[in-house]
Amino acid sequence: MTGRPPEGERKPALPTPPPEMEREPAVSAPLPETVRERALSTRLPAYVYDLNGLRAHAAAVRAATPVEVFYAAKANPDPRLLAALGPYVDGVEVSSGGELAHVRTALPGARLAFGGPGKTDEELASATGGRPPVDRLHVESPHELRRLAALRRETDVLLRVNLPVAISGAALRMSGPFGMDPEALGVCLDLLERTPWLRLRGLHAHLASGLAAEPLLQVAAQVLGWARTWMDGPKEINLGGGMAVDYRDPGARFDWAAYGAGLESLRYPDETLRIEPGRALTAYCGWYVTDVLDLKRSHGEWYAVLRGGTHHLRTPVTKGHDQPFTVLPAGGGPVASGPVTLVGQLCTPKDVFARQVPVDRLAIGDVVAFSLAGAYAWNISHHDFLMHPKPGFGYIDC
Ligand SMILES: *Cc1c(COP(=O)(O)O)cnc(C)c1O
Repeated sequence: MTGRPPEGERKPALPTPPPEMEREPAVSAPLPETVRERALSTRLPAYVYDLNGLRAHAAAVRAATPVEVFYAAKANPDPRLLAALGPYVDGVEVSSGGELAHVRTALPGARLAFGGPGKTDEELASATGGRPPVDRLHVESPHELRRLAALRRETDVLLRVNLPVAISGAALRMSGPFGMDPEALGVCLDLLERTPWLRLRGLHAHLASGLAAEPLLQVAAQVLGWARTWMDGPKEINLGGGMAVDYRDPGARFDWAAYGAGLESLRYPDETLRIEPGRALTAYCGWYVTDVLDLKRSHGEWYAVLRGGTHHLRTPVTKGHDQPFTVLPAGGGPVASGPVTLVGQLCTPKDVFARQVPVDRLAIGDVVAFSLAGAYAWNISHHDFLMHPKPGFGYIDC
């Protein structure tokens, strides 16, 4: 019942036999029984978060990873998720004054790292003077370091470097305004010599996202090799996040065991390594659940119009994929089968969750549970466009 539209199958050039039979069988996203029950009993649309599943996943990541793990809050700052993750991570990475204040309240006492471009003076003051002060400040430019120095507060600093490393297969390459070219680091070093209240701890490098374990380790090896020539003595290196989530294969998982073992063998004894994953920690614990309002054929193709839309779940539009889903039969109206395009209620052709995905049977009133909706989903969506009601939020928690 769950759809994975095979690449290339969308091209209309395929000849006979009937299109349904040419397609690969749909791949099923694992839908826990607890999520299924909640999906069928709650007011729709709704986000359903499986906090038990999140804890189990985070524990497995923790066990496989012999380095410090900070959760990148921007993936999903929901307070219940932060609280569930808290025992399994060494800290939280925040990227704005808003996230900083939010995480201080949601997870009091958590170690915090503050990164991100364009920090204002107010944000720097809050990071270093608020309670608790951040554990690490990731400096993005010489100008930012000067403004931080002007506060004259004891602060532990990592310099964020934008190294030219070879990266193959990254979904998103973090080039551009993030971090500093190696030359700018020299300017920072000069300043740090005159500002003893700023303690240089090491380097930060978040260079790509959407990578599997092996290429991510290759990036790590390049970053570490460079850092060792640049800085003497004990140091910290934050290797960033970017662990892949495969939206075309909802059962697949980033190979944390291989990544952890690889980091273990790369690390020197006097180094503290840290990673800050976001997506690969929380994507799997969330579902966006809604129901079919209407089914229609338009120019020969089936469309299912769902309650809600990409103003609640913008992920498939921003990433250009089909959001994987499971159909829970609940309706009794007209039925579609074969390739169906799932859209929302917005008056724009961009409001698409998944295109021409084969389904056995989809009826008006059926419930559709989109998986992999726990990261960069609700919190990156344009909630107020068209002023439809907000979704509900349900948590499966022991
Ligand atoms: C977004 C971000 C992360 C997390 O990236 P994921 O792809 O969600 O793992 C980590 N570090 C920095 C600096 C980021 O901007």
